[in-house]
Amino acid sequence: MEQQPALCLDFDGVLHTYRGWKGEDVFNRPLPGALKFCRKMEKRGVKLYALSVRPAVKVQAWLDRYGFPVEAVDTKPQAGLYVDDNGFRFRGDWQEVERAIGASPWWEKSLHICRAQLPIWIRCDRLRKGFDEDFSIRLHAKKWKDRLRGGKADNRSPEDFPKNKLRAGTRKEMEEHGLDLDRAMEVAMDHLTENLQYYERGQE
Ligand SMILES: [Mg+2]
Repeated sequence: MEQQPALCLDFDGVLHTYRGWKGEDVFNRPLPGALKFCRKMEKRGVKLYALSVRPAVKVQAWLDRYGFPVEAVDTKPQAGLYVDDNGFRFRGDWQEVERAIGASPWWEKSLHICRAQLPIWIRCDRLRKGFDEDFSIRLHAKKWKDRLRGGKADNRSPEDFPKNKLRAGTRKEMEEHGLDLDRAMEVAMDHLTENLQYYERGQE
């Protein structure tokens, strides 16, 4: 019998919005996109685990409260992929590991979590100021450098996309995932390559 495909997801900084350890009983909201992703995987028949330093029973209660189809575990389960905000893909080179020590998790580099703590009107205001200007500078910059490898839009540049769709997508990625402008634009380009209507559908 074929084994069910499985994913093992870290909890803090991956499923759970987080900006540093505050204790095992301090829980915030799910990270934007996490629930949608888990439900999509479940529909595809993927078994999902959440592995955390927190007690599994507490993590399970949080997962259940938000409706995550995920099983909390205390020990590393068998899985095809392990997703961790402090993870590293080991390729047999210990020097690479040494260089990676001390690297920051994504949420430390992003403003998202800080912004998430602010009242919504301040967040919107901060984002509005300068966004259009930054966007247009970026859009017309001579050289577009693809920074996140492996995306669907790796060979395309911002000018290949309808400006309004790219602007809306970039803004959405910045607001919801706390990405900086360049990264947000790149993620938006990936989504738009897959589906030009991507940002017009109801998103989670
Ligand atoms: Mg983590």
